[in-house]
Amino acid sequence: MNMQSVVKIHEKVLGKIMRLCPPVPPETGGFLGKRDDLVCEFEFDSGIVQLNRGIYKPDSMRLDAFMEKWNDSGISLCGILHTHMAGQESLSIEDRKFIADIMRLNRQLFQSLYFPIVIPKQGIYFYEAQRKVDRIEIVKQEFISCEENVRQGRLNQ
Ligand SMILES: [Zn+2]
Repeated sequence: MNMQSVVKIHEKVLGKIMRLCPPVPPETGGFLGKRDDLVCEFEFDSGIVQLNRGIYKPDSMRLDAFMEKWNDSGISLCGILHTHMAGQESLSIEDRKFIADIMRLNRQLFQSLYFPIVIPKQGIYFYEAQRKVDRIEIVKQEFISCEENVRQGRLNQ
């Protein structure tokens, strides 16, 4: 395991994700923010209601609002997660299309973004989209939960 690519997530954020993501319906989601290299924020988002409920579509107005709010505290958007039903730990074809769209629309903004899948009451599975010269690569990532950002000591300020 390459330690540099391991996602570091605050244990409180992990707890909040597992607490707020409902078992039904699937395909709700939320936004992840990070400061330095620690995932330190999560905001639940039930998404835009669609006729076809097959895929989570973030509420982009809320997303913009949080990005702005976080920006003031030095936090940047680092991922968009969504829920699946048990047994579906991997990204669907629609999920991969959605990820490609997000990365294409925000070419200047993001070199990489996390797109975790949350199975409520079970766990979280981290995927990272990385911008390469000629394509977007999606890789599965390990994560560790951290109590404090010891190096910076700036959490819970
Ligand atoms: Zn999905």
